[in-house]
Amino acid sequence: LAAFALFSKRMLNPVRDVANQLGQASDMAVSAQRILEVLDLPEEEDTGTPLPPVQGHLEVDRVSFGYGDTEVLHQVSLEALPGEHIGVIGASGAGKSTLMQLLVRFYTPGSGAIRIDGHDLSEATRSSVRGQVLLVTQEAQLFDGTVAENIRFGRPGSTDEEVIAAARAVGADEVISGLKDGYQTKVGERGSRLSVGERQLIALARAMLADPRVIILDEAVSSVDPERQRTVLAAIRRLLEGRTAVVVAHWLTLVEDLDQVFVLEDGRIVEHGRPVELLTGDSRLAELCKVQTGEIAVPTTGRK
Ligand code: ADP
Ligand code: MG
Repeated sequence: LAAFALFSKRMLNPVRDVANQLGQASDMAVSAQRILEVLDLPEEEDTGTPLPPVQGHLEVDRVSFGYGDTEVLHQVSLEALPGEHIGVIGASGAGKSTLMQLLVRFYTPGSGAIRIDGHDLSEATRSSVRGQVLLVTQEAQLFDGTVAENIRFGRPGSTDEEVIAAARAVGADEVISGLKDGYQTKVGERGSRLSVGERQLIALARAMLADPRVIILDEAVSSVDPERQRTVLAAIRRLLEGRTAVVVAHWLTLVEDLDQVFVLEDGRIVEHGRPVELLTGDSRLAELCKVQTGEIAVPTTGRK
């Protein structure tokens, strides 16, 4: 059943501790707090019907949403077929993270609907949604424990063998084994003893262990150290394989791989299509990728 349902408050102590150490102001504390708010809901407040096992056909249907009176998403529509990988690309403040949080039911749309396999998420219990839709962000990733503990967080209760298998499956095993104490290496506060690339590999292994049907990467892999780029990219490809994915990233190599991209500007979708088509033209996407990465868009042709 839902990995999420297996989280007990005891297992969340690391998150709570980290959140407390950092203080309420930091992004991570806020994210951890949001998770806790959901988990702390008495069962009767997690209303709705459990989402049955899904294939992962995701539809965002004319969704508008605002924090208080300020609307930040306006009639956003997008779709990913089961197993499809779509991108949401846009400048900072465009509303990407807000949209990603709606997809995991942190929030409920003000109007419009988000459906998975035709089931309206706002009618499903939060815990059942989290069991099949996983959000990976840049913040709130590692807590002060060992590498193994951090990976196991993806599915509490899993065995050492399962933890190692997940790391192998994303190609992180070699890097982890090369650390001072291997899987028993202490990562430090927020993973501070590891490089950015190492942290991301561990986060990706954790997601692999969680094994969601739909995976959402919200800038989960932005500033990878050059020596780890290829390993991290391979890990993402392995993690996404066979799952529906929504990716927020400006890494051109990653964007080129996607089946479809949607460009979000001030809370509106202003452009969508296949990256290979958009990147060759005079598009907002090409502009955004170039501005944010300095990479020149030269997509390889013939990719699907
Ligand atoms: P992006 O991820 O594209 O940078 P966000 O979704 O984080 O964009 O933010 C979109 C808009 O919503 C911004 O104007 C931001 O200031 C605002 N916003 C984001 N989170 C909150 C929040 N928790 N409360 C109020 N406003 C928010
Ligand atoms: Mg964001």
